[in-house]
Amino acid sequence: MELSNIPNHFATITKHKLTVMDLCFKVGLVKQGLLHDLSKYYPSEFLMGIRYYQGGKRSPNAAERQDRGYSSAWLHHKGRNTHHLEYWMDNPPEPGGPMVPVKMPLNCVLEMVCDRIAASKVYNGAEYTDDMAWKYYNRRQEWSITHPETRILLEKLLVMLKDEGEFRTLAYMRWLMKHPRSSAYVQDPSRRKCSSSRRNDRTAPPASRR
Ligand SMILES: [Zn+2]
Repeated sequence: MELSNIPNHFATITKHKLTVMDLCFKVGLVKQGLLHDLSKYYPSEFLMGIRYYQGGKRSPNAAERQDRGYSSAWLHHKGRNTHHLEYWMDNPPEPGGPMVPVKMPLNCVLEMVCDRIAASKVYNGAEYTDDMAWKYYNRRQEWSITHPETRILLEKLLVMLKDEGEFRTLAYMRWLMKHPRSSAYVQDPSRRKCSSSRRNDRTAPPASRR
């Protein structure tokens, strides 16, 4: 393990966290901005981040995956952070089918967009452009693990970012937070809001999926 990677990895994840926090605050997500990605500082994620540090240009998880065939840091991360699509994959209502994506709460979708903007900025530095989050989403074919209603909102926001820029997109996201019932993305009132990096924070599934 390269010891010099300790401060470098710490700097990269902290820079990312502060960038997400700034974006979340602009949208009105204060608590999520503060709690975002705290699990990256747990040993199970932090030590792998040091071991597979990529110069701050891309995620260490990809390097760990190439080396070991899977990323233990990512498996730890995705199960604890509600701003990731993968957190919301559930077993099918009837046994026998494939896993199904669950509709994400609005505030989780908005935190996810802040996360994607920040990751594009931190990894690309001066090369950053507003279309990078949209291209990343398409390159990874992430629609395949996104609930249809979540997909409509996520793609709308990523296209808005690409075409109209960050300022207008964040303003629209802030408006969505203030007027959740006015938007097409109405939340199921039986489900509470999500928050980041809490081990036992799984939102109760709708009755039909239990
Ligand atoms: Zn995360």
